[in-house]
Amino acid sequence: MKMLVSAAAAALCLSIPAAAQENGFETTDLGGGVFMIANDQAGNVGVLAHEGGVLMIDTQMAPFAEDLAEAVRTASGGRDPELVVNTHLHGDHVLGNEYFAGLGAVILAHETVPERLANPSRSELLGSTPEPLSGAFLPVETVAGDTSLEDRGFAAEIRHAPDAHTDGDLWIVFPDADVIHTGDLLFSGRYPFIDLDNGGTVQGYIDALEAIADSAGPETRVIPGHGPLSTREDLLASRDMLIEARTRVQALIDEGRDLEAIQAEAPLADLDADWSWRFIDADRMVFTLYRDITGETR
Ligand SMILES: [Zn+2]
Repeated sequence: MKMLVSAAAAALCLSIPAAAQENGFETTDLGGGVFMIANDQAGNVGVLAHEGGVLMIDTQMAPFAEDLAEAVRTASGGRDPELVVNTHLHGDHVLGNEYFAGLGAVILAHETVPERLANPSRSELLGSTPEPLSGAFLPVETVAGDTSLEDRGFAAEIRHAPDAHTDGDLWIVFPDADVIHTGDLLFSGRYPFIDLDNGGTVQGYIDALEAIADSAGPETRVIPGHGPLSTREDLLASRDMLIEARTRVQALIDEGRDLEAIQAEAPLADLDADWSWRFIDADRMVFTLYRDITGETR
């Protein structure tokens, strides 16, 4: 049976470009030692590998960690990361932390993240509370705001976006490679998840998209938290969509509609084909916008 599974897996691999695929992960070489490693099962990972060491952005989730570590080694000439930056607190970006800490990585995040991971809040949108994390899952170093990693040997700049996807979002600029990793400040081509229960706000999210777009040029490659490798245009398209969606929901609130009436009216219907996806569909996007505007909860 085991041999049959292996044969099937081998056959599958043959149909996919071998250089880019490994254990379900696709690695894209962006030049300058920067790689995007993705499997579309959890947040996209960034890697900066050069003589001085290996920096990794986000750790995905425990079930993928071993395969992810292999993909990182392939990209970095057989090395493990010495420094991991968590872009924010969500499980699909941090649940590999323990594994990579076990390989010797120091985990760094915004200062709000360890406390929130240890004492998670219930999500009104998801209707659930994540399990509290402890020990090696938790970042051991924190930053309060913008920070350069130059003095640690990495051509990378950390930027903090206040009150956007959460209240602890970091995005990372790799200036030499002309690459930006946005964390979940960009869901490329998808309605964004804005986590109001962890300090996110719609205006903060719009501001973050603008700040990242301002720092990007026309050739900049943008690694989103979710979705394919993107560009400055994708950041601006997401910003424009979000502003338009908020304007429509605001207009219906101003007319006195409640949440259910607004959802029934489907004010985002024409946007759905392009932006709706399995996690954030139109009703969830409207719910987030309504709650952000009114402060009301379900
Ligand atoms: Zn997230």
